[in-house]
Amino acid sequence: MTGSSDILAQFNRLEQAGAIDTLGELRRENRELDRIITDAALMVSYTDVNSMLSFVIGRLLDHFIPQFLAFLVHPPRGEKLRQYCYRNLKESEDMIDPLYYNLMKERFTRNPAPATFAEIAEELGQDLFGDDIRSLGPDQIYPMAGIGGVWGIVILGKKVVGDSWTELEMKYLDRMFRFLSVSMQNGLHYESSITDPKTGLFTHDYFVRHLDETVALCQRHKRTAGILMMDVDHFKKFNDTWGHVTGDVVLMRMAKVLKQTTRAEDCVARFGGEEFSVLISECTTEGLMTAAERIRTAVEALRIHVDGQVLSVTISIGARLIEPAGDTGSLMLIGDADKALYVSKSEGRNRSSLYMSGLLDRADYIRTFKNTI
Ligand code: GH3
Ligand code: MG
Ligand code: MG
Repeated sequence: MTGSSDILAQFNRLEQAGAIDTLGELRRENRELDRIITDAALMVSYTDVNSMLSFVIGRLLDHFIPQFLAFLVHPPRGEKLRQYCYRNLKESEDMIDPLYYNLMKERFTRNPAPATFAEIAEELGQDLFGDDIRSLGPDQIYPMAGIGGVWGIVILGKKVVGDSWTELEMKYLDRMFRFLSVSMQNGLHYESSITDPKTGLFTHDYFVRHLDETVALCQRHKRTAGILMMDVDHFKKFNDTWGHVTGDVVLMRMAKVLKQTTRAEDCVARFGGEEFSVLISECTTEGLMTAAERIRTAVEALRIHVDGQVLSVTISIGARLIEPAGDTGSLMLIGDADKALYVSKSEGRNRSSLYMSGLLDRADYIRTFKNTI
């Protein structure tokens, strides 16, 4: 009896001293820290920026829904400001004037502490912020900082349900956005390291790496895939006649056509200069040549309007099937596709040719296609 009353007395003393409450708080805080560490570990495992953002949105959805949410980020290559806006966590078409981004970026460069929109407007001058941004209901603003300083901001509206943001929630958001800043900046740097600045297509290096993997997959799973090498016809003459700036417009428009005429899983690259390559995943010989002719005719149909002139270009294509048998390496396959491309050029350009390996000591055989499929 004496024992249990002692325990009770001790408990009362602890409760009076506030120790029980403190313990509860510590437990809550511990759960919070556990949650942020688990979330951060998951987030850094993503390699592409859209998956990172989807993850963060998913996390917010689990706990609290802001009426408005925007990520404004400046990619490393000095391209335009990228905006990802959401209303009630659904993607929206809202656009924020980059002027506001610049104002807030300057503020966070001077003072990195997150702040409410009201505080920032008070600090910088109410008249600098118009109805366009105010009507979105911005509430909390967080900086995104990493190597090179502030490179983005997050704007959060009020919560859809419930009162204002609690201390604990703001702490969670602050930590979450700090982790997001670093992993998203890494993601954007990676994205620009594997893409060509002029066309946005994959680089030569990335293409070859992807081709190595595809060759290995084809051998392991007994599948076939294909390569297309393409080159713009008489492009030097085009540049000499219309100028290199117009030539660049052609390359950019062509890049778009290549993306539009291939599937998302195909790898479209700028191999160099005015040469492009496409890795067609999972195809037969017929499928590969259908893809080649689809691309060739789409480029032929492209019209570029310059100073009242309507210009067009054509391309020649060389194709090579990647087969499961044999130990043909990536460079050899590219070389074979190049041979077929050379045949397309010498046969009159604006056509596609397929390389087929010769049997025993028979010479390699190349079949040329033009509007035959
Ligand atoms: P062919 O039909 O035999 O391929 O003739 P071609 O004139 O296209 O071939 P050539 O190799 O003689 O010339 C390629 C031209 O591509 C020369 C170069 O100025 C142009 N070129 C390469 N890269 C770029 C680029 O980034 N922008 C522009 N505008 N032109 C480029
Ligand atoms: Mg060339
Ligand atoms: Mg050329």
